[in-house]
Amino acid sequence: MDTPLIDPFARAITYLRVSVTDRCDFRCVYCMSENMTFLPKKELLTLEELDRLCSNFIRLGVEKLRITGGEPLVRRGIMSFFDAMSRHLDSGALKELTVTTNGSQLAKYADDLFAAGVRRINVSLDTLDDDKFAAITRWGRLPQVQRGIDAAQRAGLRVKINTVALSGFNEDELFTLQSWCAERDMDLTFIEVMPMGDIGNEDRITQYWSLKDLRQRLEERFTVTDLAERTGGPARYIRLEETGQKIGLITPLSHNFCESCNRVRITCTGQIYTCLGQEGHSDLRAPLRASDDDSHLQTAIRHAIGLKPKGHDFDYSRQTASGQVSRHMSHTGG
Ligand code: SAM
Ligand code: SF4
Repeated sequence: MDTPLIDPFARAITYLRVSVTDRCDFRCVYCMSENMTFLPKKELLTLEELDRLCSNFIRLGVEKLRITGGEPLVRRGIMSFFDAMSRHLDSGALKELTVTTNGSQLAKYADDLFAAGVRRINVSLDTLDDDKFAAITRWGRLPQVQRGIDAAQRAGLRVKINTVALSGFNEDELFTLQSWCAERDMDLTFIEVMPMGDIGNEDRITQYWSLKDLRQRLEERFTVTDLAERTGGPARYIRLEETGQKIGLITPLSHNFCESCNRVRITCTGQIYTCLGQEGHSDLRAPLRASDDDSHLQTAIRHAIGLKPKGHDFDYSRQTASGQVSRHMSHTGG
């Protein structure tokens, strides 16, 4: 391996999240507006370019690769990319290949993902009510996602459910979601809604449900223990002693997790964002396309990592969504 990637604050970069498309078959209200304009195809990295980029990051010490979007599983030919990445699992350089998905295509692809070496996946799901699901995703249908989750578990994939905590929307489903995950032996993580992108008429402050409040509600029914486990990202974990269940809480707005940040994100156009909450980014597509020589690309990667900021600026404390970043979560991939 070449000299590993270390940022100016001595954080080793071992985790890469790559968005492979900005498109999606859903239009979740906190993520997209109903009428999205998507990028022309020539702007997107090809699957071959994605392979070259990811392979170089792996050479520089990335051990965990998460594929996201948009909806990654709607990108045409994406399974060939997963298949290609499995060579890095076989060599031992890559420890984990994983995906974050809305679940709509899982019935089709669960077996192929497992065959490519994927063992754990995140499925985003905010409600177990058919009508509410249709409302929050605008275009999604819950039974299709449930069939996808069934297929994933049958294929041997470990499923974690990601739920965005939304005030007045899924507060009443806290225990339904928790017991559903316990019954199906799935981990569950709640995410606070983040101020990202123009999403039309939705008001983010009214969408915001603090996980502090969510945790207090869990404490009314369960003995809640904090776990020391950290993953270098914004998630903290608690255990419900009565069920033994581990629950993740992602609170990027109310806690500072930046000191242990080990990750960078790449958009589907090859822009590298070294902090989810900052606008600062560098272009890796130009060096990718300018030359077949990987040393140029690696120089560009190192330069970008050298600009990784210390932390983010999200702040809801003044009752306005300050520190808002203008790009959509579907652009950087969440
Ligand atoms: N389409 C895939 C999915 O939904 O899982 C992958 C991309 S999606 C952008 C990744 C994650 O970001 C999802 O769990 C989604 O719920 C979350 N997300 C999107 N917009 C968000 C926002 N404004 N605040 C917090 N989480 C958000
Ligand atoms: Fe699509 Fe995921 Fe965004 Fe929902 S959260 S619109 S499924 S990219």
